[in-house]
Amino acid sequence: MKLNERGLLVVISGPSGVGKGTVRRALFEMPNHDLVYSVSMTTRPPRVGEREGVDYYFVDKETFIKRIDEHKFLEWAEFVGNYYGTPRDKVEEQLDLGKEVVLEIEVEGALQVRKEMKDAVFIFLVPPGKQALYDRLKNRGTEDQALIDKRMKKAEKEFLLAHKYDYIVVNDEVHNAADRIMAIIRAEHAKTERTIHNYLKMIGENYHE
Ligand code: 5GP
Repeated sequence: MKLNERGLLVVISGPSGVGKGTVRRALFEMPNHDLVYSVSMTTRPPRVGEREGVDYYFVDKETFIKRIDEHKFLEWAEFVGNYYGTPRDKVEEQLDLGKEVVLEIEVEGALQVRKEMKDAVFIFLVPPGKQALYDRLKNRGTEDQALIDKRMKKAEKEFLLAHKYDYIVVNDEVHNAADRIMAIIRAEHAKTERTIHNYLKMIGENYHE
């Protein structure tokens, strides 16, 4: 039984190549959850195997900028030459339905969400070391060397922003990392400040100091 009706907004960030996508997929494969993934919009071209509306909504720059002007994004950012943004309406809709909405976004965007959504939970996923990050970027083979170098430079900056998050999770192994994130989500759900109102209603009491 859930004591809070509105869903939880869960923001997961971490340097490019840390394995956010893989951990998120492992998280979604776990039983008994109410998670939904917020599919972002981007101007980046699709990678091999990426699907429209599943991995991203792929749009051109003009469309993206029009949406910024129309305030259609909860947050957006430019990342290594491309735009990325979270469609606002879908997030609100799912939260109202009581779903846990997972955003997988970079740091700048996460900080924008922090300002706007006070009760969101912020998780920073980190690699077990810088070399591990480099190796993952190299091994996934989706970027050329120049882009890998750019993403590593960006990662160096992002590492230093970990203190802005509520939780730091090490992605030493995908299922371990997913387990830790699920534990955080469940604990956040039970937090008194989120549940007290409905709890008291359930037992027919009013709040007393
Ligand atoms: P990639 O090109 O590797 O898919 O994503 C590059 C970076 O952009 C990753 O750190 C990813 O988490 C982030 N990203 C994906 N979607 C969004 C979004 O909607 N907003 C922001 N701010 N970052 C995003």
